[in-house]
Amino acid sequence: MSSSFIQRLRCPTLTSGLCMRRIEPQEFEVFFDQRELRKETCLLYEINWGGGRNSIWRHTGQNTSKHVEINFIEKFTSERYFYPSTRCSVIWFLSWSPCGECSKAITEFLSRHPNVTLFIYVARLYHHMDQRNRQGLRDLISRGVTIQIMTEQEYCYCWRNFVNYPPSNEVYWPRYPNPWMRMYVLELYCIILGLPPCLKIIRRHQHPLTFFTLNLQSCHYQRIPPHILWATGLI
Ligand SMILES: [Zn+2]
Repeated sequence: MSSSFIQRLRCPTLTSGLCMRRIEPQEFEVFFDQRELRKETCLLYEINWGGGRNSIWRHTGQNTSKHVEINFIEKFTSERYFYPSTRCSVIWFLSWSPCGECSKAITEFLSRHPNVTLFIYVARLYHHMDQRNRQGLRDLISRGVTIQIMTEQEYCYCWRNFVNYPPSNEVYWPRYPNPWMRMYVLELYCIILGLPPCLKIIRRHQHPLTFFTLNLQSCHYQRIPPHILWATGLI
């Protein structure tokens, strides 16, 4: 997310947009911790209808019997009549990236609503070794969806706009160390470029820690920009 975009959304006139339920600080930290592999998915989203300054809706959602992305699509299409010609920008902050099935549903949704622009920021990559999930993300990108890993900038933005933070704690500094973000950034590059996975995540039974390791092959060194490789601090 560019800094100018963040600043635009922080404008006081824009924050007067309708803001629905905020999540509690502990919920935010647990759901969006990149070191944890929490099963449930949390979605924080905002919809900007027609580009109007006071037309921002913010809301949150979690998985039910359906994945949160499907819940969003059903809610979006059922709660308000939506003219196909209406321009609309949607931003998702997801604790897990969409699975292959949800990616298909999102692609179909965007085909039916060509004037909807979707930006997706994800904290973690969902079962990133699974080829169906990798292909799903590539299909979304081909359809024009922007997908990025959440960085400190997005964590701070979510904290201020979606979290019921204590009055004295408006400025949030993410508690998560950088290396996990960098590794997910690197793995997302592999997915986009159609390279084999380089990130391996090991969760041991009855062990509280999750291990992240990198297994880079020559194709990774050849195709991935060097600054992305070096940014992990592990190379
Ligand atoms: Zn899904």
